[in-house]
Amino acid sequence: MPSAITHQIFALMVALPFCLLFYWFHVLAFDLSTILQVICIILTFSIMPDMDLGSSTIRKIFLPLALGLLLSFLILGQIMPALIICLILIAVHFLRHRGFLHSLPAALLFSIPLLMYQWTFALFAFVSYFSHLLIDKL
Ligand SMILES: [Zn+2]
Repeated sequence: MPSAITHQIFALMVALPFCLLFYWFHVLAFDLSTILQVICIILTFSIMPDMDLGSSTIRKIFLPLALGLLLSFLILGQIMPALIICLILIAVHFLRHRGFLHSLPAALLFSIPLLMYQWTFALFAFVSYFSHLLIDKL
């Protein structure tokens, strides 16, 4: 099973041609902020499928973050986001490894919300997530 670092390096290599294309065609601003955001997206989405694995790096990061967000939303009285986080936490706990999270629909499901922010970010998210699925098949 490839490590988190392997997934992240592979995703960076897969995303690089897209970066060059976007730079060439001036699709994406290449300031420091954008570059850092793209790198964060690639590094995060390339290991997201392993959230269904209890010992994974992303799970160790995700759980405290999700619990913190849940607590914050509850304190703020935001019931709907709190409910969504609860459902995600429950789902992640019961999903079997290499099940739904290791599928194309999951890649789309997690990438599509970034379309509301910037379509190139959604593409990087999808490519990174999909690169994880590819390397897991090798
Ligand atoms: Zn995996």
